[in-house]
Amino acid sequence: MESVSLNFDPDAAVIFSTLAQNGYKAYIAGGFVRDSLLGRKPKDLDIVTNALPADIENLFPDTCSVGKEFGVVIVRVSHRGFEVATFRKDNPYLDGRHPNGVEFSDEESDARRRDFTINGLFYDPLSHRIIDYVNGLEDIDRQVIRAIGNPDDRFDEDHLRVLRAARFASVLEFTIDPATSLAVRQTAPKLARISRERIREELTALLTQSPRAGRGLELLRELGILDVILPDVAATIGQAQPPEYHPEGDVFTHTKLMLDQMENTSAQLAYAVLLHDIGKPLTATRGPGRDGLTRIRFDGHAEKGADMAEKILRGLAMSNSDVEAITHCIRNHMRFIDVKHMRTATLRRFVGGPYFATELELHRLDCLASHGSLENYEFIQRFLKTLASTPPMPERWISGRDVMALGIPEGPEIGHWVETAYECQLEGSFTDKQEALHWLREQVQKRGASDSAAS
Ligand code: ATP
Ligand code: MG
Repeated sequence: MESVSLNFDPDAAVIFSTLAQNGYKAYIAGGFVRDSLLGRKPKDLDIVTNALPADIENLFPDTCSVGKEFGVVIVRVSHRGFEVATFRKDNPYLDGRHPNGVEFSDEESDARRRDFTINGLFYDPLSHRIIDYVNGLEDIDRQVIRAIGNPDDRFDEDHLRVLRAARFASVLEFTIDPATSLAVRQTAPKLARISRERIREELTALLTQSPRAGRGLELLRELGILDVILPDVAATIGQAQPPEYHPEGDVFTHTKLMLDQMENTSAQLAYAVLLHDIGKPLTATRGPGRDGLTRIRFDGHAEKGADMAEKILRGLAMSNSDVEAITHCIRNHMRFIDVKHMRTATLRRFVGGPYFATELELHRLDCLASHGSLENYEFIQRFLKTLASTPPMPERWISGRDVMALGIPEGPEIGHWVETAYECQLEGSFTDKQEALHWLREQVQKRGASDSAAS
């Protein structure tokens, strides 16, 4: 057993010492140990112990038992909650995801019920020892994802592990052991039975946490997972594109290159990149390009893709606000072609939109992963600089009340004047509210005069 010193939240220390003083064992388990050993920032700290839930509740003043039937108690220390779970083994799995109940057990079987060897390690914070029943240390060293026990059985018990294998391999840039990889391929079709929320969580982790998410997407293809969870993305494999715009190759290759170049990725950006061109296979036709020569065209692919993306994202139980943001980015991603020809007011509305930061990054990646020219991106950057501290869509200088004050009766004409005035304001036709009011007065008078001349 190896001796190392892992850093963890000092608030958790009291949990370990209290359990030890009362004769119980208590370890840190799973992802925290893995990430600490790899020099990565760990997420949640999971504690395991041989104390039973009732013992844990007796020992600590502030507890709540969210999953008592699974042997999990939340212990609160300084208003922070820590999950403390009793060593357990899972009963047989019946539905391809959940065990038919759990049974309290010893530490070795708690290690063995976990998915991969790198996730099966314990750390004893009092003796500073790693406890390794599954050869996890060796696999961390060799950078290998390997199922604990018989891989076929383990993936058959819980099919979600198929996607977790791909997620960990991609995020950690580990290889998958051949026997594990074979079992993943065999079980991949059964992912269709797994809940869409859990699929989304693993897929989002793969897309947003991988140093090269394009490599992660390729792995999903190689393992036969892509066809099952994202058939519309799989359909972009081999979809040819005009080489003058896309020297990199087919739509799938282009998407992978974009994913590989993402940095500090939000989930919204990741899904916008993943799905931005899925409308291409269904809209591909041959027709004359700008040079008059016949080439492949994808007219309307952004709109088609946004509609398809909406169905996919809803199918993954994505939140309404994410669906709205991602589909907006996809629907509008071709508008960047026209930015140099837009009127100032149109451009301001475009850059002032609620999702523009994500749209702009999507566009930058789109260029980098194809022709490489950042002309329109840089044009936008210059335009944003000219706006300086003025918001692209400032407050309106002319309100409905200003229009009514000039004697216009309530009705659609008010809206017409308010909108026209705002368009001129965005175009930069006025320098301040006074000028805008002056213009409005003149326009309304002119309109009044021409109306009475006509009647
Ligand atoms: P992350 O850093 O994303 O939180 P993690 O390894 O901590 O990664 P969790 O989903 O938080 O993953 O699970 C905590 C631990 O529980 C894992 O390290 C693993 O030991 C075990 N575990 C999680 N999901 C499964 C599963 N489907 N089958 C078996 N063991 C699992
Ligand atoms: Mg975790």
